[in-house]
Amino acid sequence: MIMKKMTCKQLGGACDKEFQANTFEEIGEMSKKHAMDMFQNGDKPHLKAMNEMQELMKSPEAMKAWFENKRKEFNALPEN
Ligand SMILES: [Zn+2]
Repeated sequence: MIMKKMTCKQLGGACDKEFQANTFEEIGEMSKKHAMDMFQNGDKPHLKAMNEMQELMKSPEAMKAWFENKRKEFNALPEN
C-alpha cells in the first residue's frame, strides 16, 4: 500500500501530528477531522490556525491557490 505523509502543520494546522493517505482529498479530510477534534478540546494553537484559515477562506481565489499549492506539495512527496 502506497501512503504519503503530511503533518498537521503542513496542512495549515498547528502540531506535528502525521497523517497518511493515498490522495490529497483523503489527507485533507483527516486533517479537517483532527482540527475539529482539537477545536472541541479548545486547543489554542489550533484555534489560532483555524482562524487564519477562515481569514484565507474569505477570498475564494486565495483559498483555491492555497489548496492547489498543498495538492502539488502532496503529489511531489515521495511514496513510501
Ligand atoms: Zn494538529
